[in-house]
Amino acid sequence: MEYGYQATGSLGSVTVKLYQSVNATFDPTDQMLDSQTITPAPNTSATASFARPTQLAPDSRYLLVVADPLNTISEANENNNMQVVAATSINITSLSERTFVSTDEIELRATVRGAQPGTRVLWTVEGKDAAANVAGFPTDFVTTTDDAGVATFRFTPSNNPNLVSDRHTRWTRGSYAANRPLAFDVTAKVTIDGTELTAGLSRTSLGPLSQDETDRLRQEYYDYRIPVPERADVISSLGGGYNRGNYRVQLSDGLDTRYKAILTAYRGQAVTVTVNGRQYDTTIPADASITITSGYRCPQRNKAAGSLYPNSLHTRGRALDLAPNPVSVTINVNGRPTRVVLPLHQTLYPALYAAARRQGRALAEAGNDPVPVGDTRENHIHVQW
Ligand SMILES: [Zn+2]
Repeated sequence: MEYGYQATGSLGSVTVKLYQSVNATFDPTDQMLDSQTITPAPNTSATASFARPTQLAPDSRYLLVVADPLNTISEANENNNMQVVAATSINITSLSERTFVSTDEIELRATVRGAQPGTRVLWTVEGKDAAANVAGFPTDFVTTTDDAGVATFRFTPSNNPNLVSDRHTRWTRGSYAANRPLAFDVTAKVTIDGTELTAGLSRTSLGPLSQDETDRLRQEYYDYRIPVPERADVISSLGGGYNRGNYRVQLSDGLDTRYKAILTAYRGQAVTVTVNGRQYDTTIPADASITITSGYRCPQRNKAAGSLYPNSLHTRGRALDLAPNPVSVTINVNGRPTRVVLPLHQTLYPALYAAARRQGRALAEAGNDPVPVGDTRENHIHVQW
């Protein structure tokens, strides 16, 4: 970046500084980028130069070459000590979304200053975190600037076949821990007057471009090739047994209201109990409780838990596994109040099954295997809707 100067008489050494500025006027708030000392020969004109800066503040539109900025040299004209140069710069100025699933299209824009429309801007995407070590993302992908100096770049992570196969293999083995996020850094590169300028998304406040917890969960559905839920369908964890997933977010199609309805239908249900060979009528007491052994499961957890069905309704928030807890009732036996523990398989499981059936399809299971209701192997009632 050349500048010219003219020495009248003998000046000795002169300090010349390079500043970046939001306007074409020098003032003390302008940031100095470089400094040099020149010693003009008396009564001559000559040129000198600064290296063109490669990183400028986004709002710096001008470079100012200022001789003797502190006015230490007395001159006939103090007002001709500055040369203004339009700054050349590239900055990433927009990002369509910070979080995503791999099939989403991500759009970035770079603004180039000091170059003609149609200038080539080269984009490179680098995988980070769960995308680190996956090759094949765009490298030096060419776009051009429009009349406003803006170059627009779009990419869809799953257009990279290496990522697709990585997701369908490495991330579908089942896990009891949350998946790490897919993340990217993106750089844009331009060459102006022989100088290469680069801008990185990670050097802006637009990013980071990294999956949030909701999209880490949604990504699992893509990985298992099952329908990906909308972001709006992912809710904060309902806690306890409702969420047996790996995240603080989950799906729920009425898990809590269905559970409460089942509990209400279970309590007060008429049952018979046998004492000393005689049957007595009683009801499931109001303090009877039901443990949720499983509710929502994210696909990775569902696989890790031994389910053979990636599309199990547990992964949609539309199934509960419920187990009755031991409870006792007081029965009048020959006029004497007698405490009787209600039998688990003979009484409690069938009562729970009857209550669950009113909310959807229900069956008794021993682990992942269906068994007849009342069978001593059952360890929960699965209900789905
Ligand atoms: Zn189940």
